[in-house]
Amino acid sequence: MDTPASLGLPSSCDILVFGGSGDLALHKLLPALYHLHRENRLPADTRIFALARSQRDNASYLALAERNCRAQVARSDFSAEAWRSFAQRVEYVAMDASQSADFGRVAKALKRTEGRVLVHYLATAPSLFAPIAQNLKIAGLAGPLARIVLEKPLGHSLESAVTINQAIGEVFDESRVFRIDHYLGKETVQNLMALRFANTLFEPVWRNGHIDHVQITVSETLGVENRGSYYDHAGAMRDMVQNHLLQLLCLVTMEAPVRFDAEAVRNEKVKILQALGPISGQDVQDKTVRGQYTAGHIGGQEVPAYWFEKNVDNDSDTETFVAVQAEIDNWRWAGVPFYLRTGKRMAKKCSEIVIQFKPVPNSLIGNGAGAANRLWIRLQPEERISVQLMAKAPGKGMQLEPVELDLNLAQAFSTQKRRWDAYERLLLDVIEGDSTLFMRRDEVEAAWSWVDPIIKGWHEHYLSPRPYPAGSNGPEQAQTLLELQGRRWLE
Ligand code: NDP
Repeated sequence: MDTPASLGLPSSCDILVFGGSGDLALHKLLPALYHLHRENRLPADTRIFALARSQRDNASYLALAERNCRAQVARSDFSAEAWRSFAQRVEYVAMDASQSADFGRVAKALKRTEGRVLVHYLATAPSLFAPIAQNLKIAGLAGPLARIVLEKPLGHSLESAVTINQAIGEVFDESRVFRIDHYLGKETVQNLMALRFANTLFEPVWRNGHIDHVQITVSETLGVENRGSYYDHAGAMRDMVQNHLLQLLCLVTMEAPVRFDAEAVRNEKVKILQALGPISGQDVQDKTVRGQYTAGHIGGQEVPAYWFEKNVDNDSDTETFVAVQAEIDNWRWAGVPFYLRTGKRMAKKCSEIVIQFKPVPNSLIGNGAGAANRLWIRLQPEERISVQLMAKAPGKGMQLEPVELDLNLAQAFSTQKRRWDAYERLLLDVIEGDSTLFMRRDEVEAAWSWVDPIIKGWHEHYLSPRPYPAGSNGPEQAQTLLELQGRRWLE
């Protein structure tokens, strides 16, 4: 069995969660740390400090954390005994991260830092990233064993991302900066690399000569929930496309890295981001669609329009849906359209990639004209990989029909234990100091360089979001985007 030592983890570690009482900390980070503790995967001497401004004592913080953890963790994985021992690791410290003086209180709570790995997890608004880094330095908490984890979104534009990156870089060298995109911690997303680089089957056809187009969809049925004030300033382009969708695009299209390590993998990803064809001017109208949900039905329940969500402006023109036709100007991918699509309050929750191969060159067999293979990579809700093949339908003649070769990854690995949540994997990687699954500075900036002109173009051309009813597949214009090229979204 893997032990913390066999995984290369240090023997002692302090994890400081700035924003420790927020949604992300309570719903994702604490449950992930609880799982790691319960399965003995944390370094034995690990302490967790939750930091936020509100005055509350440790007992009331732990009660809050336990309530949330119970709600997030499967009933079979939650035990009162495991929680009690986990809670002994956790301490709440009331502090204001924008105030230098309060970091003295943090250092005092830590007591001993000598020889200990220090993980500063910034689960706060990005406006606090630079002040926190500076204040950590002043308080002597940014030494060589200290790492900083930055949650997305890293800024709201290229300019703000550069400013944040510079400020962080003055305190932490790049190898100690972990820009998290939790999509990269998902097993299925990592499986994309296994599929491509551990199988010879696909490589010869993984290029423009054989692939007609690629679709990447990340859709949610949820609305903005409690995150209206953040989302209304961000929108789907900044919240999803700039990070998750572009990361998926990179993994589908990057060249094989020379090694599987942080620098080699990220070198290949950044080349893709730099090769993205710019979309600006008229192209913004022709190659992108913005949408915003109106009232509709999800799972039989009536849900309100985006305008009526909590903390959203009632004349907001923030997009809750984006479709983009992207192109990669390199030898392998020139001429292949990549259709990216994401939205809230859509018909179904799913993350999937469809590789549509070109049709056979002539209709040698039966009704084979236009027959083409298709590879579906489903990341959510089920992890499946399926290949659509053309087969002869039983009976007389040569009638062809598409059939699926279907691999359900959860079933294929059913003997294994509980599948890790993305945050568990990523937290362990930070403790270990492995940044392969985190975004490097140039990657984040290259992604913003591509996204910024699109957002600017929307404003210059007054491209308001097109309405779509909650529970649908997005605005009609998104269908038209593909139909004009003789294609359709594969639902
Ligand atoms: P919340 O608003 O729920 O939480 C913010 C947290 O920060 C609270 O604990 C708040 O507590 C604390 N806080 C605010 N100001 C300060 C300050 N000056 N000093 C110390 N603590 C402070 O936000 P989320 O948890 O939803 O999100 C946090 C960040 O993570 C955001 O940037 C978000 O975009 C990102 N993110 C969130 C995800 C999610 O699922 N929620 C997913 C991916 C990214 P208090 O008011 O007591 O200070």
